Amino acid sequence: MDFELSEELQAMRQSARDFTEKEIVPHADKWDEEHYFPIEVIRQMGELGYFGTPFPEELGGSAMEDGMLAQAVLCEEIGRGSSSVRVAFNTQCLGTALSIWRHGNEEQKRKWIPDIISARKIGCFAITEPNAGSDVLALRATARPDGDGYVLNGSKIWISFASRADVAIVYAYHDRSAGSKGLSAFVVDMHSDGVSTRDLDKLGTRSSPTSEISFEDVRLPGDALLGKLGDGVKICFGSLNQTRLGCASGGVGLARACLEAAVRYCNEREQFGKPVGKFQMNQELIGQMAAQIEAARWLTYRAAWQKDRGQFGNTLETSYAKYVAAETAAFCAHQAMKILGAYGYSTEYPLARFFRDAVLYQIVEGTVNVQKMIIALDQLGYRKANR
Ligand SMILES: Cc1cc2nc3c(=O)[nH]c(=O)nc-3n(C[C@H](O)[C@H](O)[C@H](O)COP(=O)(O)OP(=O)(O)OC[C@H]3O[C@@H](n4cnc5c(N)ncnc54)[C@H](O)[C@@H]3O)c2cc1C
Repeated sequence: MDFELSEELQAMRQSARDFTEKEIVPHADKWDEEHYFPIEVIRQMGELGYFGTPFPEELGGSAMEDGMLAQAVLCEEIGRGSSSVRVAFNTQCLGTALSIWRHGNEEQKRKWIPDIISARKIGCFAITEPNAGSDVLALRATARPDGDGYVLNGSKIWISFASRADVAIVYAYHDRSAGSKGLSAFVVDMHSDGVSTRDLDKLGTRSSPTSEISFEDVRLPGDALLGKLGDGVKICFGSLNQTRLGCASGGVGLARACLEAAVRYCNEREQFGKPVGKFQMNQELIGQMAAQIEAARWLTYRAAWQKDRGQFGNTLETSYAKYVAAETAAFCAHQAMKILGAYGYSTEYPLARFFRDAVLYQIVEGTVNVQKMIIALDQLGYRKANR
């Protein structure tokens, strides 16, 4: 067992840390306030190879043996600066290019992966619908087989980056009567006729656009089908098991940002003639935050490490990581707010943004309840998580 990151990964972590400090931290509050989507920064991250670590060189990746661990490490660094920008790890790699790589044919891989991981094209993945959140199979979108292709109809909601996306992985029923076997996955060109989007306003992560998508008689070519007809459930849940890693890493990054803000404040702010860090009650908060962050990070690293050994079906370990990291992000935002008091509540400081963003980690990629359900069903012997 080796708890050290490779030298290559340590160097990447440092470079992502420097990039975050220079390109993200100074602007993140303003972007958030103005609901500005920093697409140029995401393109820069693509050029730097941040989304390509697990992919082969012929597809524009860097073919790292620990490419999934690299995703976790990079995503934590970026998430420390902005939870909005960290969403790009899921839209450019874990929820899009990775699904095409794992399930697509050679032509689809060549057509889409180089452009998505370099962020020349922006990606998104569309599962959720107005009546289908945690209950994924309740979705109603249909992709009716028609001649050589399909006709896509339906609406999706809460889809990250959708209004700026060039390409989407869309889940829709090709045959509703076949139950879960009737669900399929499609790679959809978002510039096709019949696709429209509308941005939604929300509490946090306001520089990551989140949208409704409407598909009205969108004609899909036959090669839009990902995998085989009926592979939708396998691809969708398999993909969620990778995007949860991005969520876990981002949660650790945000929790770290909260701890750093709290430590800084503890050392600067004086009350009753001493720095507030000298008060044991504040020390308790700092101690809890630091320990939980370590626990969440190691769970996340383990899940990534398993994926690098081909265990992409490690649902249990990924759920542990996503659950603990999401709760840690929310916990640390709350604890830091207690320490910073009025200054935390002020929009002059980034903590107010962290506080608003933290809640999202408990919702997306399967809520914390869903993660607990996966873990409990496995423990109880009702349904094995890793199949
Ligand atoms: C900012 C943002 C970005 C998003 N990005 C994307 C995206 O890019 N692509 C995409 O497809 N989706 C995206 N989503 C949707 C997200 O994945 C869903 O919000 C999430 O799956 C939960 O669904 P829901 O919000 O409809 O909650 P619901 O499923 O309606 O759940 C409501 C409550 O009931 C609980 N609950 C539900 N079922 C159970 C159960 N069986 N047992 C116990 N408790 C249960 C939930 O935990 C929750 O507390 C995004 C959402 C947001 C807010």
